[in-house]
Amino acid sequence: VEDDRISRISSSIRVIPDFPKPGIMFHDITTMLLNPVAFKDTIDLFIERYKDKNISVVAGVEARGFIFGPPIALAIGAKFVPMRKPSKLPGAVISEEYSLEYGSDIMEMHVGAVEAGERTLVIDDLIATGGTLEAAIKLLERVGANIVECACVIELRNLKLRKCYKELDYGHKRKVN
Ligand code: AMP
Repeated sequence: VEDDRISRISSSIRVIPDFPKPGIMFHDITTMLLNPVAFKDTIDLFIERYKDKNISVVAGVEARGFIFGPPIALAIGAKFVPMRKPSKLPGAVISEEYSLEYGSDIMEMHVGAVEAGERTLVIDDLIATGGTLEAAIKLLERVGANIVECACVIELRNLKLRKCYKELDYGHKRKVN
């Protein structure tokens, strides 16, 4: 049953305090990857939710969206589009700058990877403030993508999500700690 899977997934994720700096509780999904049952449970839950939704694009956010996105994309028959850190993609790109808790970052996507109207699922490992997913949504909407949902393995609930998130259904978030 689903509840067994959720608790297996939850207990496979390691939490490391004060990484990469003091005060951060780092949720380390690499320990889940060492457990093929928990990793498969995670992917299966996403596949079950998204298989019949007519999704043609799975967009994965660097870096851990590159771990969870591709197996989901293959299973639901969608293409995989990497949303990358700056200056990594070789072709023409569009970029979006976004703010982090400290400082800012840039996300890039290849021009032509997603066509207007394509039904798109955005994947990352974890949502904290939502700033990263917000940047991904903006980039995808600039090329006319139709965002069906954003999905993460982990939601940090002690942080306030930004306002704009109230309007979207983030569906598959799971609290693990
Ligand atoms: P945010 O933009 O604040 O929602 O942060 C989400 C992004 O930062 C994701 O790409 C996460 O991988 C990473 N991240 C933020 N906080 C943590 C955390 N406590 N543990 C692991 N990854 C995190």
